[in-house]
Amino acid sequence: MPELPEVETIRRAIEPCIVGARISDVSLLDPSIAGPEGPESLQAAVGATVRAVLRRGKHLILLLNGNRGVVLHLRMTGAILLQEPATKARVRAVLSFSNGEKLLFNDMRRLGTIRHYQDMKPLLQRLGPEPLDEDFTADSLKESLSRHRIPIKAALLDQHIVAGVGNMYADEALFLARIHPMTPARNLDIPRVASLWKALRQVLTDAIGSKGASVSTYALPNGEHGTAHFGFNVAHKKGEPCPRCGMALQRVMVRKRGSYYCPTCQPPSGDTAGG
Ligand SMILES: [Zn+2]
Repeated sequence: MPELPEVETIRRAIEPCIVGARISDVSLLDPSIAGPEGPESLQAAVGATVRAVLRRGKHLILLLNGNRGVVLHLRMTGAILLQEPATKARVRAVLSFSNGEKLLFNDMRRLGTIRHYQDMKPLLQRLGPEPLDEDFTADSLKESLSRHRIPIKAALLDQHIVAGVGNMYADEALFLARIHPMTPARNLDIPRVASLWKALRQVLTDAIGSKGASVSTYALPNGEHGTAHFGFNVAHKKGEPCPRCGMALQRVMVRKRGSYYCPTCQPPSGDTAGG
């Protein structure tokens, strides 16, 4: 499913196509994509000019005048395309622009949403810090984790603690930092949090450089695939040898999410939290 690197890759691809253009039409083939506000709410965006294309966590934001915005959330299988897909299409919405560009929201599992916000502030403030921003530091992460006794894997997926990290990149970062996914978040001391902070920024930066991971339905808006998954050490690799020590990688459920790790390189700390 699309996480920060995938959404950022999409943002970079569509930004030059639609910034400065007016939204000329919003066509919903599946009205449920508009969320609880209903399809009428999206018509308020028609006629507005796209001032910028932003990403916040896993949200893609078309910023309009007056701090309004159209927010696309891809969830499990959502994809943004700049042209009709060749195969496996499940187009749920089409945004048309005054310069002739179109954004198609394709979604096999119909979990993604497009919503219009009169004011973007509440959504932006509700999310935790951006892991690649300068003010996200090892100290600020430690401060935040110290308030949570949940497993560190679950803490990394909590969008209030850090925005944009999902299952794949959390597993990859914990592997690099040699931390067992069930370790209680608040038990990690500063050196271990610093390792994790560094690992998080590394896996996310590398994945953006590889244009995201096409492990499931994710593709770029032009249909190309990302290659970040070719660099994965543990994610989706149960039973394969650990690239560091050769031990078979394992999968454990942490709060209903399958988590991949090396039992040797990421030993339990003796104080593992309940799943
Ligand atoms: Zn290992």
